[in-house]
Amino acid sequence: MRWLRRVSQIFFILFFLFLLIRTEDRIAANIVPYLSKFFFQIDPLLSFATLLATWKIPEGILSALLLIILTFILGRFFCGWVCPLGTVHNALSYILKKERWGERRNWLKFQRGKYYLLVFFLLSALFSLQLLGIVDPLSLLYRSIALGINPGFNSFTNSFFDSIYGTGLRPLTGISEPIYSFLKGNILSFKQPVFIQGLFITLLFAGIALLNLYRRRFWCRYLCPLGALLGLFSKASFTRLVVDENCTSCMICTNKCPAEADPNSTESWKKTECYLCWNCVEVCPTGSISFIPSPARSHQGGIIDIKGRRMAISAVAGAATVPFFSFSIESKRANPDLIRPPGALPEEEFLDKCIRCGECMKVCLTNAIHPTFLQAGLEGLWTPYLVMRLAYCEYSCTLCGQVCPTQAIRRLPVNEKQKVKIGLAFISRDRCLPYAEQKECVVCEEHCPTPKKAIWFDEKEVTLMDGSRKIIKQPVVDLNLCIGCGICETKCPVSDRPAIYVQSIGESRSKTNQILLTELPE
Ligand code: SF4
Ligand code: SF4
Ligand code: SF4
Repeated sequence: MRWLRRVSQIFFILFFLFLLIRTEDRIAANIVPYLSKFFFQIDPLLSFATLLATWKIPEGILSALLLIILTFILGRFFCGWVCPLGTVHNALSYILKKERWGERRNWLKFQRGKYYLLVFFLLSALFSLQLLGIVDPLSLLYRSIALGINPGFNSFTNSFFDSIYGTGLRPLTGISEPIYSFLKGNILSFKQPVFIQGLFITLLFAGIALLNLYRRRFWCRYLCPLGALLGLFSKASFTRLVVDENCTSCMICTNKCPAEADPNSTESWKKTECYLCWNCVEVCPTGSISFIPSPARSHQGGIIDIKGRRMAISAVAGAATVPFFSFSIESKRANPDLIRPPGALPEEEFLDKCIRCGECMKVCLTNAIHPTFLQAGLEGLWTPYLVMRLAYCEYSCTLCGQVCPTQAIRRLPVNEKQKVKIGLAFISRDRCLPYAEQKECVVCEEHCPTPKKAIWFDEKEVTLMDGSRKIIKQPVVDLNLCIGCGICETKCPVSDRPAIYVQSIGESRSKTNQILLTELPE
């Protein structure tokens, strides 16, 4: 059985990585819109959190319900057989091997921690503070790989093969070039991605990974809120562990259990913690352990002693955190730098729905979408925004809306997307070459993709330093035609701080972030 579990874990992690790698334009037109959401839609934690925050049935709730039903029947099999982050921790625990410090028994009480965290995050979601995407294992893994590990891997691989090529040694390049071509065609991104905060997100992930050095599958045992949710559902499951009379109490099973589920006796086995990994069955020297189907009522097993008082404190803390996270300058006044992707819902709804998975950032053709830090306040941490100084929103692209698993960014047809304003462009006359230097420049107008050109030229006669007169074309933005795509900002030759820049004002999704209000704010 253990080998079957390994095959399943390898299959699901490869599937996860395959979807992540292919979440870019190459096959976007056919499979990405459907499959890229698979893992996020089977995740009941994300569905619950979205339901609580929005009071709307989330897309893909049926797949999440299916996982809950299977957990009701089998137990917490997802953690042992499917979860890609669980598999990563499994592999790391295997490599890092020993539980080095601390007495095992002293740590049992910390298993409750994940239940308190779950209550904390669900309660804050209920009060419309949706932070579960930050700690959900599938979002966490996707974000860490897409925004940190993958760009690092890309850069390293490109430099590695470039340096081999640079040696000019035929026998070496004869081997390396076909491998490089294969990697370029199938695994590497077509353009080197770079993300603001990529390093920070990777370091956080590395910190979580290193916890395995301290305790095996530390994250899964003590922190994971999805594991806690599945643990609660598995309490009523129909699977039971039995230990027969041949057991010699050697405790090998308990020492090998990655979940601290205490499988050394039928009574002590904690079904809410067990990943059904089958390790205990395989390592038992007397073959005393087996899993049998059995009605839930007949056996409750060892119980994690969740203290009601602490649960209540977590719930109150979850609710009490809401005003602290929601109170920010951004909640009073729109941040001009917070330019959301086209099709993004109005800010409040957007924050309720975005699970900070990073799919939109990974798929963005131009690498314009980055994770926020405090631009949207603390409650908006790691949600997507466009940084047009670095790249622009491609006029005919709708990929971010296609891959967003929660539809925080709506899926729009191209012709509709092309009308969505994500902001407006403004010209800095003290930097723009025709204004500040009386030099010809038409770069922004040339790149403007709107059919009627949102940038036009005002011909002005100016006096030069030597006293001569000259007619010069000075660019002017037509705010009715401008959609804020930002290509003018990206391409402007005044490169450090461009002479034309986009700000969020005028965005279609907001009634109040407008230059002239047509409706009074509620
Ligand atoms: S505890 Fe969490 S991270 Fe670990 S396997 Fe289960 S769902 Fe995945
Ligand atoms: S907006 Fe981006 S980060 Fe947020 S849920 Fe959608 S795809 Fe994920
Ligand atoms: S590209 Fe920049 S410098 Fe050139 S006209 Fe436009 S805003 Fe001015």
